[in-house]
Amino acid sequence: MIPRVTATVDLAAIRHNLGQVRRCAPRSRVMAAVKADAYGHGAVPVARALEDAGVDALAVACIEEAAQLREAHIRAPIAILEGVIAGEEASLAAYERLEIVVHDFWQVELLESLPSAASVGLWFKLDSGMHRLGFPLDAVPLLLDVLKRRPNWRLRGWMTHLACADEPENPMTAQQIAAFERVLDGVPGERSIANSAGLIAWPQARTNWVRPGLMLYGASPLPGKVGADLGLQPAMRLESRLIAVREYEAGAPVGYGAAYRCPERMRVGVAAVGYADGVHRSLRFGTPLVIRGRRVPLVGRVSMDMITLDLRAVPDAAVGDPVLLWGEGLPAEQLAECAGTLAYELFCGLTQRVRFRYVNA
Ligand SMILES: *Cc1c(COP(=O)(O)O)cnc(C)c1O
Repeated sequence: MIPRVTATVDLAAIRHNLGQVRRCAPRSRVMAAVKADAYGHGAVPVARALEDAGVDALAVACIEEAAQLREAHIRAPIAILEGVIAGEEASLAAYERLEIVVHDFWQVELLESLPSAASVGLWFKLDSGMHRLGFPLDAVPLLLDVLKRRPNWRLRGWMTHLACADEPENPMTAQQIAAFERVLDGVPGERSIANSAGLIAWPQARTNWVRPGLMLYGASPLPGKVGADLGLQPAMRLESRLIAVREYEAGAPVGYGAAYRCPERMRVGVAAVGYADGVHRSLRFGTPLVIRGRRVPLVGRVSMDMITLDLRAVPDAAVGDPVLLWGEGLPAEQLAECAGTLAYELFCGLTQRVRFRYVNA
């Protein structure tokens, strides 16, 4: 069977991008975010590549994601960013030697229900202003008391998350970092502040640990820039193929709603990819894709299984030609912008129907 849509994941690009993280934050250890199936790139192969490249730790959202990695014999430290939400998750986390991010007192109580001999590695997450997860900053003394009661708990460190790191002009980031550092002055444990945008744009966020996600996959976390501007290589190439090439008269409608009309006699191609594969229906007309190295604009509405393309720039385009949606030379950030979203959401939105291939393992 010939796949309609193929995502080719270049593990060498992921290793290269890890190298860029290390160049940017040479004194920090790296906890690589591989949550959400490694941002849609495939958690196990990506985690394995990162582990082989010597990543210091991995981060996932929840225990299922961590368990999947342990089942695949990934041995690197794994932090669960949202922590545990039930006693059985706490036991499993202890058994699998996972590092638990604890963001609230109810999670402390869950962990206290474990046998007192149970040894768990903990990160405490503080809310330095984002107001999503985390203890209030004034909880630090209480948390230190908790640790005194539980000598078997190993404190890995203190974490916070930045709300506006991708806006280099926004004063909130410096305020968050300063508040976090101030409340931890003299407190034992390592510090972790920066996601991709934080570690690129904010030198003072490059503390003991950085937590890059998006940049490992080669996309830029900063608006107005693409990965290549930051020395990153796209880890994924998403391709479909032409399954029809037709010629229509001026004025002929194309696709659902007859929403596009051919401005002249022209050839229109149909590629076998649609929103059921994760290509957003909100993509605007004119979104550039690439056939035979040339840019072709999307015309008409994205349908479930197909998109239609203006082939005037590629007179030799033929059925069977690969159609590049994103990859080298066509940044996912650009397609994301044409859909009114971010590369994060495009990557995570790829569906089961997309065939994955891995190169340069
Ligand atoms: C997802 C996540 C990251 C990684 O963020 P990127 O923007 O992809 O670099 C870092 N820290 C936390 C807490 C996260 O949830």
